[in-house]
Amino acid sequence: MIIKNENLSKIDPKIWEIILKEKQRQNNNIELIASENYTSLAVMEAQGTLLTNKYAEGYPGKRYYGGCKFIDLIEKIAINRLKKIFNAEAANVQPHSGSQANQAVFFSVLNPGDTIMGMSLQEGGHLTHGMMLNMSGKWFNSICYGLNKKEKIDYKKVEYLAKKNKPKLIIAGASAYSQYIDFERFYHIAKNINSYFMVDMAHYAGLIAAGEYPNPVPFADFITSTTHKSLRGPRGGFILMKKKYKKIINSAVFPGIQGGPLMHVIAAKAVAFKEVLKPDFKIYQKQVVKNAKILSKILDQRGIRIVSGGTKSHIILVDLRNKKITGKIAESILESANIICNKNSIPNDPEKPYFTSGIRLGSSAITTRGFSELEIIKVGNLCADILDYPFNQENIKNVKKEVKKITNKFPIYKN
Ligand SMILES: *Cc1c(COP(=O)(O)O)cnc(C)c1O
Repeated sequence: MIIKNENLSKIDPKIWEIILKEKQRQNNNIELIASENYTSLAVMEAQGTLLTNKYAEGYPGKRYYGGCKFIDLIEKIAINRLKKIFNAEAANVQPHSGSQANQAVFFSVLNPGDTIMGMSLQEGGHLTHGMMLNMSGKWFNSICYGLNKKEKIDYKKVEYLAKKNKPKLIIAGASAYSQYIDFERFYHIAKNINSYFMVDMAHYAGLIAAGEYPNPVPFADFITSTTHKSLRGPRGGFILMKKKYKKIINSAVFPGIQGGPLMHVIAAKAVAFKEVLKPDFKIYQKQVVKNAKILSKILDQRGIRIVSGGTKSHIILVDLRNKKITGKIAESILESANIICNKNSIPNDPEKPYFTSGIRLGSSAITTRGFSELEIIKVGNLCADILDYPFNQENIKNVKKEVKKITNKFPIYKN
């Protein structure tokens, strides 16, 4: 049967209607999930093209399929733009996600049973850095470091654990850590014991690209990332590396852990990288950090404890213990007032990971939406209003009304 080229709304109205509802939800809610963002129409347009039809196992100039001459151009552009953004020696844009990027690095230099060391999930790390239920924790002997009393990374402990356990790979990077990471210090710790040093900058990539967060590229052997968080691209991942590791990383991605690259996504990554290279992106990220700092200050003024005493990035980790509600409940009550965030463990959390004593907030998406000081102050106070009286239905209704006023003023994707 020849394919019918009709619109999605006609071919599959059921799915189309759900997508429209999701669009409405994105427009009507204040998005505070620190790992989310709104990508541009141009990025989505590239991702929705016929490039999805093409198989291109291999790399530009060395494919295992015919018909790749245009695909090659696209992947080369994506690689070159990415190298330029971070001033990196080499790049691989094929990982399907941040987790795949990490797996590829593991596959390139580790064997099952080797020792790795990363930040513990409970204290801000990512599950792919050695968590028990993740492949990284099952296949490797995983050592965890965490935070000190000031809720900053405990570098002395990192050094101690490194010397004691001699991990073959040390990982720096986090999903719920709002402070700067001292990549140079990690580098020296790793070099001292002759171990590989990997930075997972999934959360901070956009800030790093704009010079708003320390750049790990001079220090790390491998740098992994997502493209869809602060970098504001399509869902996906990438790896940067020193030139001497280009070969092993490329063969770890393909044929090591992946088959054909998603060329429509790689095209969308290229478009996003172009946007990142524009001067506007620096202004955007400056505002992201400014907004996070304002939001953190407002919450603090309203008597809500901020983990690590504030933020230097887009992330704010909130401790709800003195509010006597769990992160799970806070997340769901905020959602009923159209404010979206996620529950998150805090350092030394007395609650189980499914409940938690914290929520994580982020300023990347709301800043893309156009929120600045005035709106952020309002958002902070609305969150505090909910957390002050989480079970008062009238209060929730009032907050929801105020949220609507703000979201109506800042539509995301117009029709
Ligand atoms: C989000 C994140 C990832 C995983 O990204 P996925 O694309 O969801 O696989 C990896 N590492 C860190 C630090 C992250 O925050």
